[in-house]
Amino acid sequence: MNPVENLLQRLEKVKGRNGSWTARCPAHDDKGPSLAVRQADDGRVLLHCFAGCETANVVGAVGLSMTDLFPPDEKRKDYPVEGKPSLKPAFYASDLLRIIGFEALVVQIVAFDIAHEKPLSQETRDRMLVAYQRIDEAVRLANV
Ligand SMILES: [Zn+2]
Repeated sequence: MNPVENLLQRLEKVKGRNGSWTARCPAHDDKGPSLAVRQADDGRVLLHCFAGCETANVVGAVGLSMTDLFPPDEKRKDYPVEGKPSLKPAFYASDLLRIIGFEALVVQIVAFDIAHEKPLSQETRDRMLVAYQRIDEAVRLANV
């Protein structure tokens, strides 16, 4: 089994195709698809949690280790001792749009509350900031 299949079968709410997926992040209480998964051309698996989880925590949450993200013959050569695997050019626009689409839904729900003059809790205000940060990060990762 290749590294990406090994990972995907352990994740929930997996969507995607052509070497690029989104899924529920196993490392935090994820209501939406915060995890972007991409299979690099050399067989490595690239991961990014838009809620900010470290890659090691994401793989650890499904019982894998960082070396499981690499094809067997690449483990020694390319294993990053520290830091994250390079993110560029890592993610397809379709995945980033799926992330942005979910955040837009969150914003829409709050906009409805505002329109109906419902008071906003601190939790909701904080979630709006998260939505902004995730959209901003998605734009950054899209390299536009
Ligand atoms: Zn996460």
